[in-house]
Amino acid sequence: MPLYTYECPQCGHVTELFCAVRDYKETMPCEDCGSDARRQFLPVGVQTDATFLAGVGTLLDQCGGDKREVRRLVHAARQQGYNPNMHDYYLPSIAESTGDPAAFVPASGGRGHVRRVAEQKQITVRGAVEYEAPPRPPMPKKKLADRVVRRLVKRAVKQDPGLKDKPKAALCEQIVDRHAHQND
Ligand SMILES: [Zn+2]
Repeated sequence: MPLYTYECPQCGHVTELFCAVRDYKETMPCEDCGSDARRQFLPVGVQTDATFLAGVGTLLDQCGGDKREVRRLVHAARQQGYNPNMHDYYLPSIAESTGDPAAFVPASGGRGHVRRVAEQKQITVRGAVEYEAPPRPPMPKKKLADRVVRRLVKRAVKQDPGLKDKPKAALCEQIVDRHAHQND
């Protein structure tokens, strides 16, 4: 029997279904929210939910067999209100802090879970899951204390004595500007 996958337009959950060709339907109810999930057309070789977690193993396997590492991870998650299942898949790349509950993908979850987390956190993920985060507004310029600006001006003039002839205000502005961009 062929494997069909259906993606929910509402919540992103991917449902997989082995079914006989004669029973095949273009849509089916989403397992997660009940909306109409549409059949996905996957090129040959693309990972499906069934293969997304294949070979990952238990949390202990993911931590390289280091029990102390697992305990540390579980402890961190519990402090944040989540009790990990040993068969969860912990994805550090979407964790905002160690043990971030959202970074534990349940064995029954898969790519739909990762995409929902990416949408919530507005982070871009690629690979077996594709989600393009909307652009973030630029960071506000960092305010520098006057005494820090004076110190930076002093240092700049020391490095380039020619700056001494420049108006002080313009020099300060240039330095504040450069500093702000360093943190972009
Ligand atoms: Zn759904």
